[in-house]
Amino acid sequence: MKHYANERLAQLAQDRGMPGEYIRDLRVVGSVLPFKVNEYVADELIDWSAAPDDPIFRLTFPHRDMLPADVFDRMAALLDAGAPRDELRRAAAAAQLELNPHPGDQLEANVPTLDGRRLDGLQHKYAETVLVFPSQGQTCHSYCGYCFRWAQFVSQAELRQALRDPADLTGYLVGHPEVTDVLFTGGDPMIMRTEVLRRWAEPLLEETPSVRTLRFGTKALAYWPARFTTGPDADDLMRLFESAVAAGRHVAVMAHFSHPRELETEQVRTAIARIHATGAVIRAQAPLVAHVNDDASAWSRMWQTQVELGITPYYMFVERDTGARNYFGLPLVRALEIYNEAVRGVSGLARTARGPVMSAGPGKVMIHGTAAVGGEKAFVLSFLQARRPEWVGRPFFAAYDEHAQWYDELKPLSASGASFPPFPELAA
Ligand SMILES: *Cc1c(COP(=O)(O)O)cnc(C)c1O
Ligand code: SF4
Repeated sequence: MKHYANERLAQLAQDRGMPGEYIRDLRVVGSVLPFKVNEYVADELIDWSAAPDDPIFRLTFPHRDMLPADVFDRMAALLDAGAPRDELRRAAAAAQLELNPHPGDQLEANVPTLDGRRLDGLQHKYAETVLVFPSQGQTCHSYCGYCFRWAQFVSQAELRQALRDPADLTGYLVGHPEVTDVLFTGGDPMIMRTEVLRRWAEPLLEETPSVRTLRFGTKALAYWPARFTTGPDADDLMRLFESAVAAGRHVAVMAHFSHPRELETEQVRTAIARIHATGAVIRAQAPLVAHVNDDASAWSRMWQTQVELGITPYYMFVERDTGARNYFGLPLVRALEIYNEAVRGVSGLARTARGPVMSAGPGKVMIHGTAAVGGEKAFVLSFLQARRPEWVGRPFFAAYDEHAQWYDELKPLSASGASFPPFPELAA
């Protein structure tokens, strides 16, 4: 797989006709945030005649507004002056810290222990599901500009937060029979060779009968469908899925699709069919982001196409408060509008996508809509998943706010006495 990052990315953009002014922006933003595209994204997905407004270009290429203006100017001045590498690196590291690299402390929080030892690279937040970050799976075939895990692609230190030994996973799960689902995530676990993936997955089939579902969170269907078709160990991957299904497990490819175009190529269609032929299922999810998919008809088309291809729409996420969120973020009110309009455009079979959902510290918060509560305009919310299972499914309110973009910007209703945060334990 050929891929382009740093200077090669600049060269690619130049070769495909992007103007010099843009190339400078690309270098400036690319000195702070991670970017990488592979040949499939460059040749099959991006419509260069529509760039820079093309949604896949917006998804994968830098834009100057991804940095706060002062950060952009600072980095641009250094680059224009030909500052030495070391100075650039220090300035970039400082800039990265200004972009909330660890939203909700996702890697530090919910880390379980085994025999008194922290298992960095496991996350056990909700009783039934454990997230695994295998150390060999901490990159992706291409990068999404909006990635909430971008920090791990720019700093080696982050990789300490990955799990090295499959025996630690199995060991933990043997002691936690309440865990029914294991979700391999990253980066992208499909970046791992099948042989490596097998070392993680196979012991679960043999040693942990309590684990009923293997989920693989991946954007490989969108970014590198050859992983499932003509790639060197694609067939072996299909055998792995088959053996997990034969062992009575549910195998779920949790596919990340940001735009309907990602579902249109010959290659992705073949990949989807091959995965289905193993008995595995595919569920689809993505964040709703400006410049890429902030358009109800894009979501309707995407969900409808997914249903036709046998894929179940699962979550529509709200963009997290990190990295390039100035560029990609949308007010919750707008997210709600887009979700509602998109849902109205499809039949019930495509309405299995829940959203908009914020994966926040206390849990996964769904925004159901707005309502008048005691004469005051309010957001109606509930937890789909929560740190405390008893919070799930109890509607709660927050003051309507047309600018709010994230859970922690929400405020209580002033008059009604209804609380926000919704439960006393949360307020503490
Ligand atoms: C979303 C999520 C899960 C899985 O939740 P489901 O609703 O079962 O898909 C598990 N752990 C964490 C930390 C999550 O964010
Ligand atoms: S595929 Fe997922 S982990 Fe990789 S860059 Fe995109 S959002 Fe981030």
